[in-house]
Amino acid sequence: MEKFVNYLNNLTIEDYKSKVNLHIHTSCSDGKMLPSEVIECAKKHNFEIISICDHNTISAYYDETVKNYKNMITGVEFDSWHKGVLIHILGYNIDINNEKLLSLCAKNKKETELDVIRLFKAFQRGPKKIIEAIHDSGGIAVLAHGACCWAIDIDSFVKSLVDIGLDGLEVYYPYRRHRGIIKFHKTKTLEKLSEKYRLIKTGGTDAHGFSLF
Ligand SMILES: [Zn+2]
Ligand SMILES: [Zn+2]
Repeated sequence: MEKFVNYLNNLTIEDYKSKVNLHIHTSCSDGKMLPSEVIECAKKHNFEIISICDHNTISAYYDETVKNYKNMITGVEFDSWHKGVLIHILGYNIDINNEKLLSLCAKNKKETELDVIRLFKAFQRGPKKIIEAIHDSGGIAVLAHGACCWAIDIDSFVKSLVDIGLDGLEVYYPYRRHRGIIKFHKTKTLEKLSEKYRLIKTGGTDAHGFSLF
């Protein structure tokens, strides 16, 4: 675990632009590529490390090509509500067979793709419960695309998540398309907060289409 955290801490924005992507969706949630196509793409572009983080499901990890691909950190992205704000929490380096984690996962395909259903289901998954399950499975919990959190005071918002065990912030994130529109804070602010609260900085493109860049 320490080795893994050290590895993450040594990554730079340049690494995230060329050979690392820790936020990829597949057709197991609302992404376009099959898990096997994601692997094919990662191999073609010589990625050093990737992570598939589907909404509320780890089913991509049952795919044989995914199982056999070595440059992978296991991941998942849970919807949740915290202080009246919809948030996404990423879990990395998780044990995909962990019971607590599996109990929080989607019970059907709709809970992994449709925004409206996910929005309501998120009430059943509090951030504390999610973070505890991620830790129980041996992983780290990271706040996804934090600049999109509609919290007026992002500092105390992040602090309150740190108080319940948050380990990291997704700092390197392109904020394209709809995420660009709902962006509420500066990336620089998140970077400063990760330093203030000694959080692990992670990054990824939130790929939903046919490119990993
Ligand atoms: Zn997200
Ligand atoms: Zn995502």
